Amino acid sequence: RFDQIRPKIEKHIREVKDFPKKGINFRDIMPLFTNPQLVNELCVVIADHVRHSVGHVDSVAGLEARGFLFGPQVAIQLGVPFVPIRKKGKLPGATIEASYQKEYGEDIVEIQEGAIKQGDVVFLIDDLLATGGTLRAAANLVVKAGGKVGEAFVLIELTPLNGRAKIPDVNLTTLISYD
Ligand code: AMP
Repeated sequence: RFDQIRPKIEKHIREVKDFPKKGINFRDIMPLFTNPQLVNELCVVIADHVRHSVGHVDSVAGLEARGFLFGPQVAIQLGVPFVPIRKKGKLPGATIEASYQKEYGEDIVEIQEGAIKQGDVVFLIDDLLATGGTLRAAANLVVKAGGKVGEAFVLIELTPLNGRAKIPDVNLTTLISYD
């Protein structure tokens, strides 16, 4: 099923050179959302993949911001809760946090306390894997909350950055890889 949808998704990813700064090849997924039928098809395919390859999951956790474009739709397909993982300071009430190294300094991500329960199997979703720092922090957060990452899924993997090496403990599935 991924093989059938991959070329269609690829056609909707725009490369923007030198954004947000010189030397970065930004992969813009927004053109995908001009095609709602394809977005729906993609989320159905991801949910099928979860059912058949990952098995039971207790929730889908998406990373701010572009993980929010797919996560809730996959969660609805699966009939499980969606858990938002956000940058520090955005979620109200008690939170659990994990920090990660960015190019300059560190960043902190959070979930709301109680969003993940002891023993929960969580499906993590984001748009893109670059250095792997974001997914590393997200996986740490899930574990800190008492859960377990069933699988992490990203639409796009930037292979040369070797983000996978940062998350050897996480099953990672990617739809499209760029060299
Ligand atoms: P990283 O933590 O280095 O794996 O970066 C992954 C996060 O940064 C994802 O949430 C992406 O949305 C964003 N990101 C990093 N590099 C790019 C890129 N070249 N194009 C689009 N988004 C990117």
